[in-house]
Amino acid sequence: MHPPNSLLQSAVSRDRRGRPLRDLRISVTDRCNFRCVYCMPKEKFGSDYQFLERSALLSFEEIVRLARVFRHHGIEKIRITGGEPLVRRNIEQLIRMLAAIPGLDLTLTTNGSLLAKKAAALRAAGLQRITVSLDSLDDAVFKAMNDVDFPVSRVLEGIDAAAAAGFSPIKINMVVKRGLNEDSIVPMARCFRERGHILRFIEYMDVGATNGWRMDDVVSAREIVERIARAMPLEPAAPNYTGEVAARWRYRDGSGEIGVIASVTQAFCRDCTRARISTEGQLYTCLFATTGHDLRALLRSGASDDDLRAAICNVWSRREDRYSEIRGAHTAPLQKIEMSYIGG
Ligand code: SAM
Ligand code: SF4
Ligand code: SF4
Repeated sequence: MHPPNSLLQSAVSRDRRGRPLRDLRISVTDRCNFRCVYCMPKEKFGSDYQFLERSALLSFEEIVRLARVFRHHGIEKIRITGGEPLVRRNIEQLIRMLAAIPGLDLTLTTNGSLLAKKAAALRAAGLQRITVSLDSLDDAVFKAMNDVDFPVSRVLEGIDAAAAAGFSPIKINMVVKRGLNEDSIVPMARCFRERGHILRFIEYMDVGATNGWRMDDVVSAREIVERIARAMPLEPAAPNYTGEVAARWRYRDGSGEIGVIASVTQAFCRDCTRARISTEGQLYTCLFATTGHDLRALLRSGASDDDLRAAICNVWSRREDRYSEIRGAHTAPLQKIEMSYIGG
C-alpha cells in the first residue's frame, strides 16, 4: 500500500543536504532571437544549429500538469524562461493557464525584445512579476553582447511598456563580463535608480560548454558594489527571505536598491531550492547538471499524477548538487547542459 500523499511529501521533500524544493524554472523554448556571447555564441548557435522539433517540446497542457504536480509537492514559485520565452507562440495562453493554479508566484525572464508588444497581454493573463535582461545602455556595447545588432532603445521601450502594464517593481538583470561591459555598471545603476526598477548584477558564469568561460572574465560582485558605491554610496540590506539569490544593497540616500548575484565568487548552493525543467521535459536539479530525468517520457506513457509525484520525490531526495561550491575541484571539463536549453 502507498502512503497518503501528504506523508510521501513530508518524507522526501528535502534533498540529501536538507534543502526543500521551493522554486521551479520552466524553459518553454530553446530558441532565441539574440545570440548573447555569454549564452548562445554565434559560432555554436549558427544557421545550421538543430533546435528542437516542435513535437519534442512540452505542450502547454503538459507544462501545466507538471506545474500542478510540483505545486502539490511544495513549489511556491515558477519562473518561465528559455531561450527567449516570448518567442514561444501564444505564451500568454500558457501564462493564463498557470495563473489559475492557486498560491503560485508566477514570474518570467525575458530579453525584452518583444515586450513592448506583449507586456499588456502578459499582465492581463495573470503574470505577476517580470525580469528583463539588459547588459548595457551603450548601444555599441549592447550590440556587441547580443550579437544581433539589437538596439538598447527597444528594450527600454519594453521595460516602459511593462511598467505601464502594471508590473512593479521590475527587475533588470545585467551579466557583467570583463572587458565588455564593466564600464556600463555605474550608468546602468544610475538609470534604473531613477526609473525605480531593481537592477541585479550577475557574475558571468561557466554555464554550458560553448561560451569559452574563463575566471579572468568574471567581474566579482564585490568589485561591482565597490564601483557603484564610489559614485553612489551603498549599505547592505537584509535578505527578503532565506535563500534569496541576490545580495541586496540599498542606496544610502534612500533612493532604491540593487542586487548582486555572486554565483561564482560566493556560492549559494547551501540554500539552493531550485529545480529546472528543460524545453523537452527533462528535470534538472542544478544549473550545471550533466544529466536530467525524463518527465516527458513519463507524461507521454500514461503516468498518473501520483507516479509523477513519486518520480519527482525520488529525484529530489537523492539530490546532492553543489557545483558552485566545488567549481575549482573539477579537473576535467564537464559536459554541461546549455543555459538556453535548461532555462537560465
Ligand atoms: N532569454 C531570456 C533572457 O535573456 O532574459 C531568458 C533566458 S536567459 C538564459 C536567463 C538569464 O540568464 C538572463 O538574465 C541572462 O542574462 C542570464 N545568463 C545567460 N548566460 C549567462 C552566463 N553565462 N552567466 C550569467 N548569466 C547568464
Ligand atoms: Fe537569448 Fe537570453 Fe541567452 Fe541572451 S541570455 S542568448 S537573450 S536566452
Ligand atoms: Fe543551485 Fe547548482 Fe547553482 Fe549550486 S550550482 S546554486 S546547486 S543551481
